[in-house]
Amino acid sequence: MRIEQITLTHVRLPLHEPFRISNGEVSEKDGIVVAVSSDGLTGYGESSPMAGSFYSSDTPESCWRQLTEHLAPAILQQTFSSLDSACEWIGRQPGSNFAKVGLETAMWDLEAQRQGIPLHKLLGGSRDAVASGLAVGLYDTIPQLLHTIQRYTPAGYRRIKIKIAPGHDVDLVSAVRAEFGAIPLMTDANASYTIGHLDIFRKLDEFGLLMYEQPLAGPALEDSAKLQKAVHTPVCLDESLETMADVERAASLGSFRIANIKIQRVGGFRNALRVYELCRKFGLSIWVGTMPELGIGCAQGAALASLEGCDYPTDVEASERWFRDDIIEPWIEVGNGMISLPSAPGLGYRVDDARLARYQVAATVIS
Ligand SMILES: [Mg+2]
Repeated sequence: MRIEQITLTHVRLPLHEPFRISNGEVSEKDGIVVAVSSDGLTGYGESSPMAGSFYSSDTPESCWRQLTEHLAPAILQQTFSSLDSACEWIGRQPGSNFAKVGLETAMWDLEAQRQGIPLHKLLGGSRDAVASGLAVGLYDTIPQLLHTIQRYTPAGYRRIKIKIAPGHDVDLVSAVRAEFGAIPLMTDANASYTIGHLDIFRKLDEFGLLMYEQPLAGPALEDSAKLQKAVHTPVCLDESLETMADVERAASLGSFRIANIKIQRVGGFRNALRVYELCRKFGLSIWVGTMPELGIGCAQGAALASLEGCDYPTDVEASERWFRDDIIEPWIEVGNGMISLPSAPGLGYRVDDARLARYQVAATVIS
């Protein structure tokens, strides 16, 4: 595998509504599209940290620097005997997972195209369609939250996830239960609580939620284990699980029962599959989250969610859920709560150059 050219495009697309979580909000979505050319094929990846560095310390700007100054120029000089050796090389480079993931996932697209199979088959997926869950952010008022959920019910999403934060929790869950009844429902706190808030989670325990996603700070694995012992609802970890060592430690401590695997957070498919296998070994449940990404990253997430151990709906939603426009054709669609996976080789979606040009913040070709 010889890499002939890498094209990097930083794009910024408008969202329908600001995406607000416990510690910040974005009203536009930034992403870096990584196009890797090799042997007459082009593979696509996406680096998609959240702008504003409130999910992690990585930003579109920091990833752009790492990709343009080191990762892309360095990989041009390499020849790889296999996809695995390419991913292994990328993993060893300095830089953040959010920067590496754009390059790493493009290599998987290239390999799937070379083998003439869809990406989800290359990953070992066993489903042709995956269940999708609706995620909604924080709102100023409860009626706004209920209205947003109502708006997306025709798509038949298989579960609802609401964001919570201290002072905005039990009342929100209670209102959603009252309005929508016994729907599959979960919360995501984005690490905004401490073990001192145990009473809140004891109260939330009465609502029969699927899980509490990342209630406590990422490094607070001991406290998370205390919380998990004190409540019936399974704890799901997201921000806590950056490395294999984190997963191993959290599993040994009993800090969680469910893992949210994000391809972006762990730096690519190879690491995502390793985390998946490790969680299976520990008997933990798994599902696939998103940042959310633009179309490329979302299509990758849907492909990963086709693995048989992914037993909760993915956070990947329809393109039209967040975006006024997307960079792929066709858009990702959700019907009856399901996303059909493409049967064409590779990613299975066409990346639209005209849209990349329209939303471009910066672009460079490295060859
Ligand atoms: Mg989360």
